[in-house]
Amino acid sequence: MRVLLVEDDSMIGVSVREGLRQDGFAVDWVRDGAAAETALACETYDLVILDLGLPRKSGLEVLKGLRARGTGVPVLIATARDAVADRVAGLDAGADDYLVKPFDLDELAARIRALLRRQAGRPEPLIRLGSVTLNPATRVVLRDEAPVSLSAREFALLLALAERPGAVLSRAQLEEKLYGWGEEVGSNTIEVYIHALRKKLGASLIHNVRGVGYTVPRQ
Ligand code: CA
Repeated sequence: MRVLLVEDDSMIGVSVREGLRQDGFAVDWVRDGAAAETALACETYDLVILDLGLPRKSGLEVLKGLRARGTGVPVLIATARDAVADRVAGLDAGADDYLVKPFDLDELAARIRALLRRQAGRPEPLIRLGSVTLNPATRVVLRDEAPVSLSAREFALLLALAERPGAVLSRAQLEEKLYGWGEEVGSNTIEVYIHALRKKLGASLIHNVRGVGYTVPRQ
């Protein structure tokens, strides 16, 4: 999952980025509203974490512009404790949720999972694909009830496909979900991860649609 983090405070920015990376998210971090608009125009994100008080352009302006262009990406705003009016304005401008600073990284990750679940129209926290079950919160994967050990990237790739069963994602789309800016992408890494996932979870779980990409079929 690819996340855009918009935050001008260096300490918060570093801790959120590192925390989310450890949770398997690909994170791009920008420090002002204008850079956020550029990033949103150039990349496809699964979620945006948006500080409201930002240099060059406020978070509220960025949010209004995003929604005016019809972009439905989930937005989680981060505000100061006393800024009730800002939170109300943010939610009314199209934000999906908010967090009050300073926030706990575990709570942030849980809110992100809830938003992604809602975005995927999936009420259940667990994702079931035949004999395979994924838990996005614990990153535990079971095959026939037995735990299977996956690397962080293998899990991220499987989750990207499993969030939207039946959708075909190209190699480029999968790379976008796995790697943030500045992260090296090898030429055949996606194929290597797919190969590993098939070996661990069964050859029939992920289908290759020749010339288009990969899909997890609807069960
Ligand atoms: Ca700020």
